[in-house]
Amino acid sequence: MSPASAPDSPKDSPQKSPANSPANSPANSTESTAFRSALDVIARVEPRVAAAIGAELHDQRESLKLIASENYASPAVLLAMGNWLSDKYAEGTIGRRFYAGCQNVDTVEALAAEHARELFGAPHAYAQPHSGIDANLVAFWAVLANRVEAPALEKAQVRQVNDLSEQDWFELRRELGNQRMLGMSLDAGGHLTHGFRPNISGKMFDQRSYGTDPRTGLIDYDEVRRAAQEFRPLILVAGYSAYPRLINFATMREIADEVGATFMVDMAHFAGLVAGKVLTGDYDPVPHAHITTTTTHKSLRGPRGGMVLCQPELADQVDRGCPMVLGGPLPHVMAAKAVALAEARQPDFRDYAQRIVDNAKALAEGLTRRGAKLVTGGTDNHLVLLDVSSYGLTGRQAEAALLESGIVTNRNAVPQDPNGAWYTSGIRLGTPALTTRGLGTAELDEVAGLIDTVLAQTKPGTTKQGAPSKASHVLDEAVATRVSQQAADLLSNHPLYPTVDLG
Ligand SMILES: *Cc1c(COP(=O)(O)O)cnc(C)c1O
Repeated sequence: MSPASAPDSPKDSPQKSPANSPANSPANSTESTAFRSALDVIARVEPRVAAAIGAELHDQRESLKLIASENYASPAVLLAMGNWLSDKYAEGTIGRRFYAGCQNVDTVEALAAEHARELFGAPHAYAQPHSGIDANLVAFWAVLANRVEAPALEKAQVRQVNDLSEQDWFELRRELGNQRMLGMSLDAGGHLTHGFRPNISGKMFDQRSYGTDPRTGLIDYDEVRRAAQEFRPLILVAGYSAYPRLINFATMREIADEVGATFMVDMAHFAGLVAGKVLTGDYDPVPHAHITTTTTHKSLRGPRGGMVLCQPELADQVDRGCPMVLGGPLPHVMAAKAVALAEARQPDFRDYAQRIVDNAKALAEGLTRRGAKLVTGGTDNHLVLLDVSSYGLTGRQAEAALLESGIVTNRNAVPQDPNGAWYTSGIRLGTPALTTRGLGTAELDEVAGLIDTVLAQTKPGTTKQGAPSKASHVLDEAVATRVSQQAADLLSNHPLYPTVDLG
């Protein structure tokens, strides 16, 4: 059950001193033996792959990671993925497979689904999606099958699509391709899979989006209601990748009900805060949404993958994710999902989730106190959106200057971004990863100081013609080196994967 970090409060670490004794030292730990042996086996076939895996651990240990969508999965989660379950084809659902010999896949998929139902209080859970985007595709098609395809089959008095006449099939396909979705706009923090043209969701649906109030940066529910009443979508989507505030899912559900829309929530980013009961009541999407999708690798701290939770009326259609959208499931990843969800059901995960939010607030306050400008002025969740225009920089320049200084972030558009989606005017900062490492609020305040120092000393570069550049920047190497050292000092107090020594 141990997370990837050293336990950071004394009550969590009664074994602190034995951990330093030779018999229990990291070099002799079960985890070290497991990972070292695995790398030895891999190195016998392709040593460069083993070297890259080892180098990745080193790089993760050395970087101050503020990427809001990343985390560190526990050794148990990681090890659950590297085994024989990967060899198995298991198309179908638990107990109803198109292949023989799936009893062990049934076991792990049933465990993943059971832990998910219990953890989130969901009537139904589907653990097969390979990623967040797959989970959303499963959800969209479950809703289309339920609300468009099923009535058409009933009208034609047939049981399945293969029994429709050519004419009825032609009309059904046209109808499936002519449905509406209303989601949050990309530049307000929504996601590409919520109906944007470069993504398949934008090609499948006639899409419109709601943004945020230009003065406050917050979702304006009256505006969402007006848009829903005018557009009358089949699906109303809530959820985001870059919105630093809470969403009132009870209000969103009311709006969906008023216009007869199915309410879908994509909690890919904040599932860990739901699991950890930081988001409850109106802010917990699961009881309010007809269908909820998530990734399992972001704040939920599991393996890279996706999952769908839904109300009973959509369960049968969701379970048809394979063959609708997916091929064979990834049984080894479902095993790791079951392990991660079991971890998230432990009481200490609630503490973890609360510390994520406390840390994000400390980061936001630390930045604000130093004069930085934040979208919405602060945060209620795991992420902070820093508007770097007040430093005279683009997001791209800020991202590069911070990276040079040992701080890993990603640039992100701010609402109505004058620099567009490539250069951007923002930096997105998230605390799930550093919180897993065990950093606390005082340290996040120090991180805010480091970020402010770097950005205040960074200047835009110039183009060959001498005009200000949006891409290049100038930062004194001494500043970058000094901040990198300070970042490394902060991290050295919180070893990552403290039980793992690759020797
Ligand atoms: C990250 C994310 C996804 C996509 O997840 P992948 O696993 O990368 O496919 C979908 N929706 C939202 C809101 C996300 O933040």
